Amino acid sequence: MLIKFLGTSSGESIPRADCDCRQCKSVDKKDKRLRPVILINKKILIDAGPDILKQLHQNQINALEAVLITHDHQDHIGGLKDLLRARRDIRIIRLKPGQHFKLLGIDFYAFKVKHSNLVPTVGVEINQGVYIPDISDLDWAVKYIKESKAAILDGSVLGRNFGGHLSMNEIIGETKEMKNLKKIYFTHNGHTKKPHKEMQELVKKMGDKRFFIAYDGLEIKV
Ligand SMILES: [Zn+2]
Ligand SMILES: [Zn+2]
Ligand SMILES: [Zn+2]
Repeated sequence: MLIKFLGTSSGESIPRADCDCRQCKSVDKKDKRLRPVILINKKILIDAGPDILKQLHQNQINALEAVLITHDHQDHIGGLKDLLRARRDIRIIRLKPGQHFKLLGIDFYAFKVKHSNLVPTVGVEINQGVYIPDISDLDWAVKYIKESKAAILDGSVLGRNFGGHLSMNEIIGETKEMKNLKKIYFTHNGHTKKPHKEMQELVKKMGDKRFFIAYDGLEIKV
């Protein structure tokens, strides 16, 4: 199964229009991040934030089967109307905890995660991988992360928990011990003011060589 990251920012894209920090001023292409979306086997999207049409255009994605929605926050559903207007035949699946189904031969299982008191949120097992872009506490998700070979997790904040997001520091602390995980990617990457290259070195140092910062356009096999 092929997963392509079409967007890897958190709620706001990077660079921020009004910021001169090193992350926003970076000339590295990997520091240009749109709102979080992944594409599975070129046909299935997870989430559709405000940048979705741009993401489909930039990546020349034509035939789409379905879009799966993790939760109703703007950075995940803000482009749904645009998407429907442009792709009338796409199926929208609002994931519910416990929902298990096969789509184009891929196994999906949605499970509840802690993130927001107001907006119910799920993580998704996708074959042997797990996608959890927004999470404030790993506890309900640990079981599923421990069943996976690859995990794509919340990179919103570095050192302290904030606004429904668990810090990368804590995520690395917990997942480092999980030897089932061959690779751990951070998406939903926040405004840490550190460029991609520096963040990449940092997560390797805090964790080990299995840790990566995802970037827009990255393709991985799971
Ligand atoms: Zn900045
Ligand atoms: Zn959210
Ligand atoms: Zn989000």
